Amino acid sequence: MDLILRNARIRGHDKNVDIAVNDGLITKIAPKITTRPRQVIDCAGKLVSPPFTDIHVHLDAVLTVGQPRFNQTGTLIEGIEIWAERKKTLTFDDVKRRATLAVKWELAHGVTRIRSHVDVCDPDLTAVKTLLEVKKEFAGLVDLQLVAFPQDGIYAFPKGERLMKQAMELGCDIVGGIPHHEMTRDDGVADVKFACDLAQQFQAKLDLHIDETDDPHSRFTEVLAAETIKRGLSGRVTASHTTSMHSVDNAYAFKLIRLIKRAGLHMVTNPCDNSVLQGRFDTYPKRRGHTRVKELLAAGVNVGIGHDSIMDPWYPLGVGDPVQVAFVWIHYGQMSGATEIPQVWDMITTNPARAFGATDKTYGIIVGNPADLVLLDAETEFDALRRIAPRLLVIRNGQIVARTTPSETVLCPKGWKKEAIDFRI
Ligand SMILES: [Zn+2]
Repeated sequence: MDLILRNARIRGHDKNVDIAVNDGLITKIAPKITTRPRQVIDCAGKLVSPPFTDIHVHLDAVLTVGQPRFNQTGTLIEGIEIWAERKKTLTFDDVKRRATLAVKWELAHGVTRIRSHVDVCDPDLTAVKTLLEVKKEFAGLVDLQLVAFPQDGIYAFPKGERLMKQAMELGCDIVGGIPHHEMTRDDGVADVKFACDLAQQFQAKLDLHIDETDDPHSRFTEVLAAETIKRGLSGRVTASHTTSMHSVDNAYAFKLIRLIKRAGLHMVTNPCDNSVLQGRFDTYPKRRGHTRVKELLAAGVNVGIGHDSIMDPWYPLGVGDPVQVAFVWIHYGQMSGATEIPQVWDMITTNPARAFGATDKTYGIIVGNPADLVLLDAETEFDALRRIAPRLLVIRNGQIVARTTPSETVLCPKGWKKEAIDFRI
């Protein structure tokens, strides 16, 4: 036996357990495993979680904040304009350096699956070609899915259809879209239908940026849901952002949520970006401008949280940590209830993993599954979220791939005996 994690707290077990790992797989979970392995890790009653999935990020744009200028209005549109300027200067080395660093940050935080949108509105497709290389380099450590994403529109950008197709031919995994950003409602509908056609042609999944606006008349999610039902694509389609759902009336939201459920859409919410981008045209009261997560979850819809931006023209902060993003979402989505906080943990673990394509056989702390595990410096999900707790160890296929040493704080006023202070209770 290669490894035993002793005295681990895992969800679904009343008492702490030992987890045995051999040949990259979880081979036994029991209160006390007596076999002697090559390596033992004492978890000291701390939480061991399945790894995180970042289901929505833009690795081509990461770490470009301020280049060539900062987003003064804070709007999505100014972000797109700044990115269009920065995009002209992209090179292979530039994209590779930034994307590689961001993926390393994510891995260090326990992320082993990343879905990155890649802007295809560039005649050279520099970012697509580069991220395909990054994907290869991280194989076995971080599973990377690339979405062909038409940032400037399939019809509002010259040769948009052709670039989308080229990106899929080059090796993108998933077809994207941006119907709310097309010039007209009709073009938006065409955007959705083209994306569905292309996905069917390549037998690919879909993940569209959709209805990312405060405009309640932006209603393309219903088109995507209807196309999903008519074409039998259920389970393969993700709707990202859908912030206009915040602003529609309740009767329409009721209809739409039923349609989303029927279509089996996966929904992705991006609280960091949309908390700063939405409501920018409001005076007071200001809308939160977010999709209706609680209602979607209550209807049994799969909802995951994405990081979206890490230091780019849309969102200037971030360290590639899903727990930090979930912390933001607890506030922004008012999911602070005793049963809601564990639900938020699902939104960065099991729910996005499902949208990614993981199954019960490939994901979760279950005997026979790959030993992909994250040991946190916290005893519960609640405490991990409260303190955005360090990830002590990240284990992929039974191998330790990242290690974090928690910092130590000491109170030391003059005349006091030095006192180490612990933020755990
Ligand atoms: Zn996005």
